[in-house]
Amino acid sequence: NTFAEIDLGELLDQNIRRCKYVKPTPVQRHAIPIVLGGRDLMACAQTGSGKTAAFCFPIISGIMREQYVQRPRIARTVYPLALILSPTRELSCQIHDEAKKFSYQTGVKVVVAYGGAPINQQVVVDLFRNMLYFAFIYANYSIILIELECKRERCLVLHKLLDIFSLEDVLRELERGVDILVATPGRLVDLLERARVSLQMIRYLALDEADRMLDMGFEPQIRKIVEQMDMPNRGMRQTMLFSATFPREIQRLASDFLSNYIFLAV
Ligand code: AMP
Repeated sequence: NTFAEIDLGELLDQNIRRCKYVKPTPVQRHAIPIVLGGRDLMACAQTGSGKTAAFCFPIISGIMREQYVQRPRIARTVYPLALILSPTRELSCQIHDEAKKFSYQTGVKVVVAYGGAPINQQVVVDLFRNMLYFAFIYANYSIILIELECKRERCLVLHKLLDIFSLEDVLRELERGVDILVATPGRLVDLLERARVSLQMIRYLALDEADRMLDMGFEPQIRKIVEQMDMPNRGMRQTMLFSATFPREIQRLASDFLSNYIFLAV
């Protein structure tokens, strides 16, 4: 009933205490030993259930033993040992923040990679578009039409700029090394295509809010990502799939990505 009873290692135990986690939540109590025991996991867990720690703890604990394995040095490509995929920039940043706290002083390096603009900037851009739309309805047709086109261009340029900034940030960060990469699927595909990230050394894969990722249309990207992981040698990786719901599409992902897995519903 305490984290100390689960063998996560002294450093991680210290960090857990520092976070003031006393008792594992139900999903943590069951999921962590399953993953530490080497099994794949499909867990039905809601937001707020403590699922972030449920996949971060065994990943960090495992990586602490493996972070000194030789990794290739090929140009500017980095070889993370764990990958956490999440649907949105906000969730990825949240996971990244928590994973950093949990891995404090362990030497495990966590990097986050997301695409596009943050929600608040997105809202400004969208508001701007709506205002133009109403102006278009109420004002002189032809002048506004030209205005609208110019401003639409500017919106797109703004979007592109924000995206380039976030890409440059992550490229700089990656160059300092990475053990655990937290990413949204679209941005990761971009990094794979640029050969800045290789998934050949991945030991742990966690898919968070898998149902939401499918709802957002990320299935082709996710399949592409997992394919790259399986290319050299399947079987090296342990996979965890977290989802609030368990519809047929998620069951299909589980049977395609997980092997001999344990199903957990809390
Ligand atoms: P999550 O479901 O991972 O988003 O976690 C929900 C919230 O619960 C987060 O603020 C966590 O920091 C917190 N939390 C997770 N596990 C524990 C725990 N064992 N004890 C206390 N708080 C926790």
